[in-house]
Amino acid sequence: MSILRRCLLALLLLAAALALTSAAKAGSYYMLLGSRVTSFDHPPVLLSAGRVYITVAALSELKTFAARSTAAPKQADSAVAAQPVAGGTASYSIAGHTLAVSGGGAVTLDGHPLDKDELLAHGGERYIAQAAYERLGMKLAYSSIQKLYQLAGVVTRIDYVADPPALTLICATPVSVEGVQEDDERITLAVEGGWLADSTAREFGGDATVSRLGFKSQPELGRSFIFIRQPRRSGFKVNSDPYVGFARIKFGNYFQLASWQQSSSGEISLNVQLGAPSKMETQLLDSPPRLVADFSGVLYEDATRNINVNVGRVKQIRVGSPIGGRVRVVLDLSELADYRVLENDGGARYYIQLLPPVGQTAAPAARRLGRTVMIDAGHGGSDPGAPGVLSGVWEASLNLRIANMLAKQLDQLGYSVLFTRTSDRFTSLGTRTDYANSVLPYVFVSVHCNSIEQPDFTGIMTFHYATSPAGAQLAALVHEEVLAATGATDKGVRTADFFVLRETVMPSVLVECGFLTNEDECRKLADSTYDQLVAAGIARGIDRYITGGF
Ligand SMILES: [Zn+2]
Repeated sequence: MSILRRCLLALLLLAAALALTSAAKAGSYYMLLGSRVTSFDHPPVLLSAGRVYITVAALSELKTFAARSTAAPKQADSAVAAQPVAGGTASYSIAGHTLAVSGGGAVTLDGHPLDKDELLAHGGERYIAQAAYERLGMKLAYSSIQKLYQLAGVVTRIDYVADPPALTLICATPVSVEGVQEDDERITLAVEGGWLADSTAREFGGDATVSRLGFKSQPELGRSFIFIRQPRRSGFKVNSDPYVGFARIKFGNYFQLASWQQSSSGEISLNVQLGAPSKMETQLLDSPPRLVADFSGVLYEDATRNINVNVGRVKQIRVGSPIGGRVRVVLDLSELADYRVLENDGGARYYIQLLPPVGQTAAPAARRLGRTVMIDAGHGGSDPGAPGVLSGVWEASLNLRIANMLAKQLDQLGYSVLFTRTSDRFTSLGTRTDYANSVLPYVFVSVHCNSIEQPDFTGIMTFHYATSPAGAQLAALVHEEVLAATGATDKGVRTADFFVLRETVMPSVLVECGFLTNEDECRKLADSTYDQLVAAGIARGIDRYITGGF
């Protein structure tokens, strides 16, 4: 190609790009084409004489998705293909149908001109009626979230291939696909922007990675769901192209560095998501100082990554796959740090949290550095908790008072303290645990007061989650100290499937500080002198846990 021709081509491409951007800017009407917000110069939807019309421009816009697609299926795979035809006519192949639009205004569908009442001209634009665009596999929905009309295309193909296991989805409009691992045998894929004409379930025999595909379509909401059943959890990864209705779901134990951020310790924490439970091994190495974490039996397809961090003691994070089936994450440190590993989802999610270093012989003050305590005052706002037998006594406000006293005690010892609530307001359990898991306090302590039908019941119970040895250790120390401080009846250390214990990834306990249904204990708890003793006991137990090096 000559230089002149190359320049001409560059100019043409530039002109085309400018035309595209100016067209996009000029448009002041918006609509969702599948999952993509698209702008138009004219209203994309019209209501006339009780009929719904959409502009031909919305349908012709779909061609650009096929043309622009890169990682996309080949043209033959595509649900939408465009072919400009001589004489100012363009024809679009959409979901197996052909829509042709001539410069003169005629519109044909599969070679047949549309009926007069299926076409509408308005403001120099052409619109086609619902019956016609539905023949192209399009449904008009309204997204109440985006407050926009949505043209949802039909999913023209869903193919499952067993080796290597992958599910391919092709839709006439762009779709966004999100997958959720429901449990060890179920994955749900939400397909936003596409609907399914066929919801017949498919079974796959034997020991296949996928044993069953179930479907649910909600065309009126512009979305559909695919329910995947597996004999055992494999993990998966969604690849999709935002410009075309194409998504490929690959099954396998894929490694994903979900996030990294500065945690409550002042140092970095990494959040790693795996497809299925997997083993991890860590080593802290000197010269140069670094923390190495190896994940075995996992897949990593991306390029080796070096992420510059420079937060706390972490200079950079390196992620790569040096040996097959093993992914290595290296944290390059400016100086040696402590760290801990928190595990969730049965070993499919790991948190690696760096902590300020503490030598084995360090004084208690040094051992408290960077070890944050999160205090969770139970209930609040519209949920007052248990009522006391004495009038005006409510659990939620007592919890908050004890929480504040506990915070003061911990603060005096040199701890940083975080609260899930600091005032009398409703806070959902999920909000509390999401907050804890995002900032990763060293420990999580939930403060409650008890109630029961038997009015003679008194005493303190301390709960932990059954499968958390660290929680059991923390509960034992807190319970021992709170009993010593208050002289209350010992109602034991117990396990329970409480939400805040189950869903927090760090060691967590829940203290039931006494029975509001017993008149004596209710009177004690209503007295701030007694609450100070409760708070001091809990604080001492937490401090013993942390300075004890657990
Ligand atoms: Zn409670």
